[in-house]
Amino acid sequence: MDISVNTKKMAVIGDPIAHSLSPFLHNNVIDENGFDALYMPFLVKPQELKEFCSAAKTLGFSGFNATMPHKQALLDIVDELDPEAEAYGAVNTVKIHADGRLTGYNTDVRGLLMALKGQGVQLEGARVMVIGAGGVAGAFVKGCGGEKVAKVTVLNRTYEKAAQLCDGLSYGEAMELSADNLAGVADEADIIVNCTSLGMAETGSDFDDISFLDKTNALLCDLIYNPWETKFLAYGRRRGLKTINGMDMLIYQGLIAFEIFMDVNLDYKKEHDRLLPLCRDRLFGK
Ligand code: NAP
Repeated sequence: MDISVNTKKMAVIGDPIAHSLSPFLHNNVIDENGFDALYMPFLVKPQELKEFCSAAKTLGFSGFNATMPHKQALLDIVDELDPEAEAYGAVNTVKIHADGRLTGYNTDVRGLLMALKGQGVQLEGARVMVIGAGGVAGAFVKGCGGEKVAKVTVLNRTYEKAAQLCDGLSYGEAMELSADNLAGVADEADIIVNCTSLGMAETGSDFDDISFLDKTNALLCDLIYNPWETKFLAYGRRRGLKTINGMDMLIYQGLIAFEIFMDVNLDYKKEHDRLLPLCRDRLFGK
């Protein structure tokens, strides 16, 4: 690696940050494509966020990604918001322009939509079932509006959050996360997306009863990638359903951010297909 004053600098910030796969992913894209760039992780606490932004500007960074807990706080710090970040109320990518301006983007939803479309999913006219009503679910449900889906049904443990999310959306319907509702909506759905942390490693929580998938023919998508295959996905796969874990979304949202930082165009499919097994090996070993 030949680092000079012209080497482009990028970062990912969060608290915690040690677990992030982004440095591995971005530096792999840099190496494989011969870019003169470097991508580094930084532990940044909420009270240090403004200071980090001004330091990154002073040091000539091209931009940075942000994960928990900074996605909302950045809305008020950046100089301007891309329409998607404004609509979703969260920033996960900040571009630092040559004149020092900071633009906030959100690449999560485009990443998830690319993951679905990459598996041949037809969103137009689809009946989408979303489990969860947190940050990513909210952004995804809003993003579905631009895809001409037929209907999105949001089921959440805290019903009020699902209702708030669907308020004013002609295609949105909120429901409580009950066994009856899960089975009833799943039977009619074309796509089911788990946007909760149910099934995520080390949370100790998972779906108590997965039999709501017994009759559905939907494609299943889980935003979780650790474990690689959650109980939700494993049950669907055994039933012969098509399944996608969260790694495709992670890779695509990262590639979109990389293009924003570097002002380049990447071959998404080529990069995705190379990165997918590498990221799995990085997480779980060969
Ligand atoms: P969030 O805002 O904290 O929302 C969490 C959601 O999970 C809420 O709907 C919450 O319900 C629900 N939930 C949590 N524990 C539950 C339980 N025991 N029973 C039922 N529901 C439960 O999280 P987020 O940022 O939207 O992230 C959601 C998921 O996406 C996480 O698994 C995260 O790791 C994953 N993610 C993946 C990527 C990727 O690139 N693949 C990117 C971002 C996030 P309540 O509203 O009732 O609390």
